Amino acid sequence: MKLSSANIENHLDTVYDAIVVGGGMGGLSAAIYLARYGLKCLVIEKGRGRSLWMQDTRNYLGLDPDTPGRNILTHGAKQALDWGADYLRAFVEEVTDDGETFAVKVKIGKKDSKYYTLRSKYVIAASGVIDVLPELENMQNVYDYAGYTLHVCMICDGFDMWDQKAVVMVSRESQINVAFVLNWFTPYISVLTNGFTVSDAMKQKLVDHGYPLYEAPITQILGENHKMSGVELQDGTVVEATTGLINMGSIYHNHYLKGIKELTWDGENLITNNMGQTTHERIFAVGDLKQGLNQVTVAVADGTLAATQIWRYIRRASQPRKWEE
Ligand code: FAD
Ligand code: FAD
Ligand code: FAD
Repeated sequence: MKLSSANIENHLDTVYDAIVVGGGMGGLSAAIYLARYGLKCLVIEKGRGRSLWMQDTRNYLGLDPDTPGRNILTHGAKQALDWGADYLRAFVEEVTDDGETFAVKVKIGKKDSKYYTLRSKYVIAASGVIDVLPELENMQNVYDYAGYTLHVCMICDGFDMWDQKAVVMVSRESQINVAFVLNWFTPYISVLTNGFTVSDAMKQKLVDHGYPLYEAPITQILGENHKMSGVELQDGTVVEATTGLINMGSIYHNHYLKGIKELTWDGENLITNNMGQTTHERIFAVGDLKQGLNQVTVAVADGTLAATQIWRYIRRASQPRKWEE
């Protein structure tokens, strides 16, 4: 059932078997499995997540390579709802462990927000990450290309950059190292720092590879119809490129978990076992938020495993059903 501020009051006494934070690739996969195990689950999705901006899904078996993320989200949410999952559009602010159950505090609506607390036995953290984009004066100019020909994921889209002139956009010197991996796909790489100055050692390494470096701030991305033709810098330079890779780090959607001391982190990623269980036995993590490869295939498989492990625990703790007249 779809929940909203109109009907949520009826669900405040429900103890869900699992609350899934994030209705993206991993979360919806988990919800489909949980619902089909007959468990009571609720997916909470804030909107505007990473997979929504995925304009095509290149490498997922059985899907056309031009399938946009938003289609998978719509289809997956409908499938989860049809099998019996609940779904709420809201932002999860905090999760606290009350021993037997979790209190999941949500905020509904960005304006005139309303706050509620929902309860569950298990939590699946499926809230992912979002890529940091260059902050230009006109963000629409960035959005016109990011996710189209200006990529954020080399594993996803390196193939689509093959032997093209490419820019690499970074915000820290260490991020330049991606150029020495991207060169598997194309050697025609220009590095743009958008204003910061690079050390002599890195400058020399780039010279050795023949990769031009531009340290001037970026004014705008050039092109049309989401197809890049180059990048204009503040000093008037135009760097020709038909594609690019943004490698400026990620924002991790993990703040709501920061109060839970049993969790173990690798940087901002959660550490899990091979069933997606974190070091808190009732919290699971799937997809980009956990340590590992940031891919749809991985997130979807993670959701299956986490849901199945939760079912095992709940099933083993419950009375067997007997055939009684
Ligand atoms: P997501 O799908 O991002 O789902 C997390 C969800 O949690 C989001 O919908 C978000 O809104 C929600 N959320 C976050 N915080 C909260 C909160 N506090 N409360 C409620 N909800 C919250 N992968 C591929 O395999 N192939 C590709 O071709 C490919 N191309 C890509 C292209 C682009 C432009 C981008 C950005 C990514 C691409 N990826 C691709 C990567 C892929 O999108 C991710 O690996 C995948 O979506 C991870 O799944 P996830 O469930 O971990 O996260
Ligand atoms: P969030 O950081 O998710 O939320 C900010 C705050 O708003 C939260 O802390 C919470 O208090 C509140 N909040 C959020 N959701 C809810 C909710 N459902 N209920 C109550 N409160 C809530 N953005 C565009 O606008 N257009 C684009 O074309 C575009 N293209 C992109 C392409 C790529 C490749 C990438 C990686 C990103 C793109 N973005 C685009 C996304 C943009 O960069 C932001 O990351 C994204 O919009 C963040 O979502 P948000 O504004 O909801 O902020
Ligand atoms: P397969 O997809 O079986 O691929 C292995 C291939 O290797 C086969 O095509 C076989 O012919 C070939 N092969 C074997 N030996 C050799 C050899 N020596 N030389 C050359 N080729 C060889 N899973 C779900 O997730 N959801 C479902 O709803 C679902 N329903 C199912 C319903 C049925 C009736 C069946 C039978 C299975 C179902 N499954 C379902 C399970 C799913 O089919 C398997 O988990 C999945 O196919 C495993 O993938 P795989 O690549 O390991 O094996």
